[in-house]
Amino acid sequence: MPDLKSLVRTIPDFPKPGIQFRDITTLLEDPWGFKRIVDSFVSHYRYAPIHKVVGIEARGFVMAGALAHHLNCGVVLARKKGKLPHDVERLEYALEYGVDTIEMHKTCLKPGENCLVVDDLLATGGTCAATCQLTERLGGVVIGCAFIIELPELGGRSKLSQYDVHSLISFDGH
Ligand code: AMP
Repeated sequence: MPDLKSLVRTIPDFPKPGIQFRDITTLLEDPWGFKRIVDSFVSHYRYAPIHKVVGIEARGFVMAGALAHHLNCGVVLARKKGKLPHDVERLEYALEYGVDTIEMHKTCLKPGENCLVVDDLLATGGTCAATCQLTERLGGVVIGCAFIIELPELGGRSKLSQYDVHSLISFDGH
């Protein structure tokens, strides 16, 4: 049986030189691998009082749907700029070079709903920190942040220090 880490494909210099892109499509394509990651998250969060799983575009959506089904929660989509059709709340956040924007529907949460924020990978933490901030601005309470992969050398956990962070696999380097 393969281990989870070996099912992640690494693509050097994508999308730009120096980045080791950790491609989870190969992990998702593997029935054992996909079941294993969903089951690991489900057993970790089984007793957590979660109302909504917030998935970060785009690979976070895959996990958000599967987890929400097992945990009996709703799914909320945190999307890149201009993709959501109704009124949105947006937050701009800094990237290494430039800025990015994340948006969520203004109506996606009821006040005080507990949210689990999910993405495929934690690097610098900027994307998830912005999503958590937006979730809170919309009345949600972030009870945790879940990732398949973490790159500890990029220090994402320190940007998410006020939250409970859980990841399944870690890789050295960038
Ligand atoms: P960050 O905001 O720096 O934590 O970056 C996290 C977001 O960028 C996630 O949505 C990831 O999908 C993507 N990402 C960043 N670095 C990588 C990488 N080395 N391989 C794959 N995806 C990455």
